[in-house]
Amino acid sequence: MDNELWMILLPIILLPVFFAMGWFAARVDMKTVLKQAKSIPAGFYRSLDALVDRNSGRAARELAEVIDQQPQSYELNLTLGKLYRQRGENDKAINMHQALLESPDTVNEKRERVLFELAENYQNAGLVDRAEQIFLGLQDGDMAREARQHLMSIYQQDRDWEKAIELAQLLSHEEQTYQFEIAQFYCELAQTALFKSNFDVARYNVQKALEANKKCTRANMILGDIEFKQGNFAAAVDAYSAIEQQNHAYLSMVGEKLYDAYAAQGKKEEGLNQLIGYMQTFPDLDLINVIYEKSLLLKGETEAAQTAVELVRQKPDLSGVYRLLGLKLSDMNPTWKADADMMRSVIGRQLQKSVMYRCRNCHFKSQVFFWHCPACNKWETFTPNKIEV
Ligand SMILES: [Zn+2]
Repeated sequence: MDNELWMILLPIILLPVFFAMGWFAARVDMKTVLKQAKSIPAGFYRSLDALVDRNSGRAARELAEVIDQQPQSYELNLTLGKLYRQRGENDKAINMHQALLESPDTVNEKRERVLFELAENYQNAGLVDRAEQIFLGLQDGDMAREARQHLMSIYQQDRDWEKAIELAQLLSHEEQTYQFEIAQFYCELAQTALFKSNFDVARYNVQKALEANKKCTRANMILGDIEFKQGNFAAAVDAYSAIEQQNHAYLSMVGEKLYDAYAAQGKKEEGLNQLIGYMQTFPDLDLINVIYEKSLLLKGETEAAQTAVELVRQKPDLSGVYRLLGLKLSDMNPTWKADADMMRSVIGRQLQKSVMYRCRNCHFKSQVFFWHCPACNKWETFTPNKIEV
């Protein structure tokens, strides 16, 4: 019984001792920290403070002064060079990193790190060939992955799609497969071949794009264009229609082409019905204009207007209302007509400003669709239909 009591009491009795030990340990640690802090020059903190204030100019000046006192500091030299680059002072960044590279202490991983920074400086300064040479040389070391990512971006910029594919394949791993990018690079090759009417090469690259990403709608669009250009209109219809299974949102991009491929086989009505069917199933598709125009040709004004009005009512939006007012204008009471016309032009102006394609990644807006976002350089991030932004 006595023993058990001691087992309970002992920790309680020793509690103040534990507290004292903790307090002592903390004091010793704080002393070490303060000692270390005193050995860091005040300019370092001023530079850090300037960075927090987003004043990179002041940060660079303060850091440069610290380096004057401690010229051997590898990390600080590396960082100051990066800071210069970030500020667009590429010459200073290149000189800084070049000098660091020549230091006898810059060996092994340190050397690779500096070379990588130097290559980035060259890339920023537009000296892409020099950057490429350095990145190529870094492919066997610790910086291989980062170097290859930069190489891939250089080859995309140069529109050297074969090399971009090679790099994307090297970079591919389980978590990031680059299948979107690889498919798009093959599509770029296919598109170029199609422009030159080089159909076999175009077909080969479309196939490779679909192997990389079977949901690549762009590959099917190009395949449809190849078939159309070669006069295989039924095959063109099949290629365009297959987009419904891949990602129906892209169907509006082939609406007119699909109709033309039907029309070339003497099946205009079938083509029109397919487009109307798409819009009834997927009201977000931007197909109303092509449906109205083709209906007008095939069935005349009354029926075309009726079809368009029904589709607008199904999913009213700004462009639908604009079209609706245009259709209703001729039947309107003269007292209303002028005002309705005025409303329509107000909506038309608004439409120009606020209905656009938008990058889902960086929210860049444009009246033109891009497969490759010019702002963030990502692929397939644009909405395939114009949206209210
Ligand atoms: Zn973007």
